[in-house]
Amino acid sequence: MLLVAKPILGEEEKAALAAVIEDGWITMGERVRAFERAFADMHDARDAVAVSSCTAGLHLVLAALGLGPGDEVLVPSMTFVATAASVLHVGATPVFVDIERLDLPLMSLSDAAAKCTGRTRAAILVHYAGYLPDRERWRAFAQARGVTLIEDAAHAAGLPGVGTIGDAAVFSFYGNKNMTTAEGGMIVARDDAMRGDAMLERVRMLRAHGMTSGARQRLTGHASGYDVTMLGYNYRMDEFRAAIGLVQLARLPEWNARRQALTERYRRVLESDCPDLALPFPQPRPSANHILPVLLPATVDRQGIMDDLRAEGIQTSVHYAPVHRFTFYRQRFPEVTLPLTEEFARRALSLPLHPDMDDDDVDRVARALARALAKQRETMPP
Ligand SMILES: *Cc1c(COP(=O)(O)O)cnc(C)c1O
Repeated sequence: MLLVAKPILGEEEKAALAAVIEDGWITMGERVRAFERAFADMHDARDAVAVSSCTAGLHLVLAALGLGPGDEVLVPSMTFVATAASVLHVGATPVFVDIERLDLPLMSLSDAAAKCTGRTRAAILVHYAGYLPDRERWRAFAQARGVTLIEDAAHAAGLPGVGTIGDAAVFSFYGNKNMTTAEGGMIVARDDAMRGDAMLERVRMLRAHGMTSGARQRLTGHASGYDVTMLGYNYRMDEFRAAIGLVQLARLPEWNARRQALTERYRRVLESDCPDLALPFPQPRPSANHILPVLLPATVDRQGIMDDLRAEGIQTSVHYAPVHRFTFYRQRFPEVTLPLTEEFARRALSLPLHPDMDDDDVDRVARALARALAKQRETMPP
């Protein structure tokens, strides 16, 4: 089965895990710190804080900003549920914003502006499918309205420019992301203001129970005891994950280049083999090419296409069912309607995209998709 996404793990990861067992120090040690430093360097950030997941990282950033009941946070609905859940975790209210256009499924600036109120404190930008939002326009928006920007960069590890839009950016190393530690995440903060340092210091403490020093620092004599100065969490990363993360990070640029090349090939062959498909992001835009969404014609039975592709050994999926339509969110926010997000979600289909694929895989997917679409044209009234 050609999978939509897959983790790439091998001998180097095995050796890195074995080395942690040899050393015997298994959590929050030198590897976690080295992973933070290396990740910050790759993203031109002064420093980074490793956490147990992107969801945990988003929660910590919102907590560090002091957001809570009565505060509103603008979020897209065309995202994974964690983006909105993190807002609810601090007791604030997510305000769902539509996408810009069907061919630009990033959070709409004009809809965000329309939904700003006196209570709007922050906006979470999601780099959907790995594509970067317009930095200058969002920074101008944030400045004009006194809104803090946070990047949910779960799809965009290794992308130049990521982390420079918001006051903080949070990455995911879940198994299907561009690099993985099985579970894990990373927070970077802007370094052009004291604010970035203060943010990282705060999330570093919040990550580990609000303690003023860690076990490693006490062992190495850098600290003798600790105090607890805030209500913290246990969102730590361990040495096994950091060891894998260091190996994966070194390979990320090569993998992202491969994703870019595969995406370009998809665009070429889909344009010729499947002319009734619409491809989002037709204009060039920086991207980590995390997923390859296509937009099916409105009349097509998507499940039928997915079944036909599966029968040919090709997995597909949908990114995403809109968050505001899930039962839990519908019950709390029944009045929300986002016409473009809903139409995009009805017609979107994600095709296999990962660095273990070659050009022939792309051609095979395009041909299978063309056949499935042709079959539906034959059985449908014109
Ligand atoms: C995967 C993902 C998350 C959650 O990441 P975890 O590390 O699994 O918590 C958040 N936002 C988006 C957009 C994602 O794709």
